[in-house]
Amino acid sequence: MKILVVDDSGFARRALIKLLNEQLEGWEIVDTGDGKEAVPLFRQHKPDLTFLDLTMPEVRGEDILEEIRTFDRESKIIVVSADIQLKTRENVIALGADYMVNKPINAEKIAQALTAVMC
Ligand SMILES: [Mg+2]
Repeated sequence: MKILVVDDSGFARRALIKLLNEQLEGWEIVDTGDGKEAVPLFRQHKPDLTFLDLTMPEVRGEDILEEIRTFDRESKIIVVSADIQLKTRENVIALGADYMVNKPINAEKIAQALTAVMC
């Protein structure tokens, strides 16, 4: 099983990957801080689960999400964002995200997200 982590913040990526490694066993994790690499990496690795930041330089997470959903409806996508507006949540769910986690993340939020998408 494979996970793709996309976030322009190295701190955020490291924090998330640490929590994932604590909560999951035997998953391969691929990550990038460059939003432009997200779709090519997705096509290359075909992850079962993607964690996707929204606010990044050059590429919006919403656009990445929309593009992935044009060719993959099956894999799980969890949006991770500091934007807590209800409108943002409704929009990313409408674009095909399976779940949204508000930053800052912690072990409980990630456990809830994993449970929600792996039922
Ligand atoms: Mg960001």
